[in-house]
Amino acid sequence: MANKDTRLSVDTLLVHDQRHSKGAVAPPIYQTSLFTFDSYQAMVDRFRGDTEQAVYSRIDNPTVSVLLEKMCQLEGGEKALAFSSGIAAISNAILGLVKAGDRIVCVRHCYPDTYRLLQLICARFGVTTQFVDGTDLKEIEHALPGAKLLYLESPTTQLFEEQDLNRIATLARAADVITVIDNSWATPIFQKPIDSGIDLVVHSASKYISGHSDTVAGLLVGTGALIDKLTSETTPYLGAKLSAQEAALLLRGLRTLPLRLQRHQTSALVIAKRLREHPAVTAVHHPGLSPAPYSALTGYGGLFSFEADDSIDIPTFCNSLGLFRLGVSWGGYESLIMPAEVSINQAGAPSAAIDFGVPARLIRLFVGLEDPEDLWRDLDTALALASPAETDNA
Ligand SMILES: *Cc1c(COP(=O)(O)O)cnc(C)c1O
Repeated sequence: MANKDTRLSVDTLLVHDQRHSKGAVAPPIYQTSLFTFDSYQAMVDRFRGDTEQAVYSRIDNPTVSVLLEKMCQLEGGEKALAFSSGIAAISNAILGLVKAGDRIVCVRHCYPDTYRLLQLICARFGVTTQFVDGTDLKEIEHALPGAKLLYLESPTTQLFEEQDLNRIATLARAADVITVIDNSWATPIFQKPIDSGIDLVVHSASKYISGHSDTVAGLLVGTGALIDKLTSETTPYLGAKLSAQEAALLLRGLRTLPLRLQRHQTSALVIAKRLREHPAVTAVHHPGLSPAPYSALTGYGGLFSFEADDSIDIPTFCNSLGLFRLGVSWGGYESLIMPAEVSINQAGAPSAAIDFGVPARLIRLFVGLEDPEDLWRDLDTALALASPAETDNA
């Protein structure tokens, strides 16, 4: 008799799959657009909703289903959906829950493209957004009455400010406002928002869940009622499905997620603490250095930011790095650097970084899986090369 223990820890759940066909240890990749029926009656039963056979890969696919089941177990949600990108998960969740005339409340320093989705697309359909300081419970409480949806991201992009998820979820329930949170930074390994009372959790799975910088994908987990509403009214008609191939990549990523996060956490804390002691660094924004009293985090990943004083020439600093590479995104194996001034000067689109004042001398770091001592030497040397004494000598 197979062991059916349901109290398995996350580490075990993530490496222990159900048995797949023919004893395959990795789930088969169902590279097929459609699934045929054995009989007329089988087709009728499926379309009536009496059976669960997959029909068409825009709607469901068995490889994707394995991933969704794992995500439900991880986040403690009832149902999940997978998308072709994180922003597809976010846009499907938001567009599927609001209508013209509704108001969304959103934390100020959300992911830049979430900001643009709200300011460009939602606004075009008569949905307004009120941006609030996520650390100010009173401001959130005042904004909630009459709102349809509260959008959270904890910690926030760039400044990594946390929100009090337990108290905010209680306030939102009382005001009958649906809560959605972007949990890409913490992943369910370090934060489980559904346990705090949040309704829906979105992920850019392009980051830690993939973990190998080789795919773009999104996930959404939540209550059965809300996910059913989305699958009956929205997601099939927006059509941003995840492919079976990419679902298999995400399943591969999940197997090592807890291990990788431990390494990112330890290395990033070492580097954040040393940066805080550096004479040219004026601030370090890392939720682990001065945790919020209400923090829902049980650990920290590799992404944080710091501010350099005027003595540092930021372009020289970036160009002097050998291991940290200039790039957007994060969550893979490789260390990355992203100076805020580059995104602040991005052409065209509306920017939360400008509208809500992200410091121009802020630099975001992603600490990868390399040896932290090598990474520190890289940063320390580049800071020295970018300071005026060095520039004068040159
Ligand atoms: C990258 C990112 C997104 C967008 O995800 P994509 O997979 O690039 O569409 C959303 N939220 C956060 C916090 C991100 O870092």
